Amino acid sequence: MARRRQLYEGKAKILFEGPEPGTIVQYFKDDATAFNAQKKGTITGKGVLNNRISEYLMQRLTEIGIPNHFIRRLNMREQLVREVEIIPLEVVVRNVAAGSLATRLGIQEGTRLPRSIIEYYYKNDALQDPMVSEEHITAFGWASTHDLDDIVQLTLRVNDFLTGLLLGVGITLVDFKLEFGRLWENDEMRIVLADEISPDNCRLWDLKTGEKMDKDRFRRDLGKVEEGYQEVARRLGILPEAGVRDMKGPEVMQ
Ligand code: UDP
Repeated sequence: MARRRQLYEGKAKILFEGPEPGTIVQYFKDDATAFNAQKKGTITGKGVLNNRISEYLMQRLTEIGIPNHFIRRLNMREQLVREVEIIPLEVVVRNVAAGSLATRLGIQEGTRLPRSIIEYYYKNDALQDPMVSEEHITAFGWASTHDLDDIVQLTLRVNDFLTGLLLGVGITLVDFKLEFGRLWENDEMRIVLADEISPDNCRLWDLKTGEKMDKDRFRRDLGKVEEGYQEVARRLGILPEAGVRDMKGPEVMQ
């Protein structure tokens, strides 16, 4: 394998310096973690599926004018993205009560929320990503009010679009997490969608049966984790007929 400078290794991805300035290669691992990395495991084929699912969703978002960091997929586990300055926030959108919202506020999981709700978490592993408000974000300078206006607008558009797209293939978009970054072009800065959109950071339930097709299968030991991710790809029409295991591995990058 050609030597590349590794920039960062996270829980589910490794970032390498890209072939051109201002680009980064995102390598998708099969590693899975939950509960702030207290639970660790491997989901065979997850990296391949997430790379493909995220590519597909980012491309659809590009088509409707949502700026994002995606450039192109390089191989089964890698995609080329624009280098951005990540805003240290996890932006969560919820349409249906689940997970931490259901637990914290005592709302039955599966209850449709009166309207979509956005929450912010400060990205900091040592602090276990605490929930923060707009006040914290602007006071500590993680993002300006103007940045936050852009983030909210983009987030709501992503939610509307993905909700419809997934509904069309029989999936309820319960909640998901987005990350944003700053991209500079000729001294102008704009906020763009970054990271990934995959069953690792969305809750996806079958519309009819409520069956989970996302990382909750891993978090809650429900079994058939890989199958859940594959089913999402199959419904989106992007699962190769031979299945993930028959797909070839990453190609050597120069
Ligand atoms: N989420 C994520 N990364 C995190 C925390 C949450 O991608 O570090 C996603 C999660 O998959 C779900 C949504 O954000 O789709 C809301 O998660 P929640 O706050 O309910 O936390 P959890 O139950 O995952 O601990």
